[in-house]
Amino acid sequence: MTATRKRIELTEVVMRDGLQIEPAIVPTDTKVALIDQLSEQGYARIEVSSFVSASAVPALADAAEVFARIRRRPGTVYSALVMTPRGAARALAAQADELSLVVSASEAHNRANAGRDIDTSFDGFAEIALLARDTPATLCGAIAMSFGCPLEGDIPFERVLGLVGRYANLGVRSVSLADTTGMGYPTQIAALCEAALRRFPDVRIGLHLHDTRGLGLANVHAALGVGIERFDASLGGLGGCPFAPGASGNICTEDLVHMLELMGYDTGVDLDTLIALRPALENAVGHALHGHVGRAGPCHRLARA
Ligand code: ZN
Repeated sequence: MTATRKRIELTEVVMRDGLQIEPAIVPTDTKVALIDQLSEQGYARIEVSSFVSASAVPALADAAEVFARIRRRPGTVYSALVMTPRGAARALAAQADELSLVVSASEAHNRANAGRDIDTSFDGFAEIALLARDTPATLCGAIAMSFGCPLEGDIPFERVLGLVGRYANLGVRSVSLADTTGMGYPTQIAALCEAALRRFPDVRIGLHLHDTRGLGLANVHAALGVGIERFDASLGGLGGCPFAPGASGNICTEDLVHMLELMGYDTGVDLDTLIALRPALENAVGHALHGHVGRAGPCHRLARA
């Protein structure tokens, strides 16, 4: 008898978080081809692009065209990052399945990233909730700098929990805590996640982790231990926030899937075909990718050899 493996929901963020910080602008055709290939991997969610100012993030200026041209796999949610009602209206017009809102737990980073204070961001989110109310699109919320900010230092747990509550008051039922510059560590991650799960039993809490200081997968392990079941990750570990000093790559999807599989979790993603996508992404960005398993090969492949 085989035990049912616990399902972990993965969001692939390479096309948004990954490409937004790359110096090379990847052609639209290449993005569409990559997303179509990612769609075949069985992800719960793919972050396709962001509807923000083209001058702020030129790499993602073709968001509407990308949404129009990708082949959507039933069962995968295609999401778009938005920060303002204007961006949300564009994302809805492009038929994004989900609008991913972003606020920062740090006022200084929110001003750098969104050009407004936190209260003004939430005023905009209330408008976005109204815009999305009569559409099929769902909303999810992210809280950048949940585990520390290079501009402000430590971020108190209560501030992060307060922002989860503000999202929940707008009807957002899925909130991701982001370690935007990789300042989180396992005991802290577990404690904040546990507090959020306890205080907001009706909100699905997820994690968006960066591996800036090598603690990415240790933080995943700590979060799994307190019951987190949703993680963002980036193929080849690409990514970073252009408006956060010292930001570097997200946790690498291949390494994450490999660890989760070894631990008996089901991600829905096939590791071998995922690794096979690396050369196409490498060509698109014009440099080598990050990650361990993509280079060393997964344990199961070595055992078969
Ligand atoms: Zn990120």
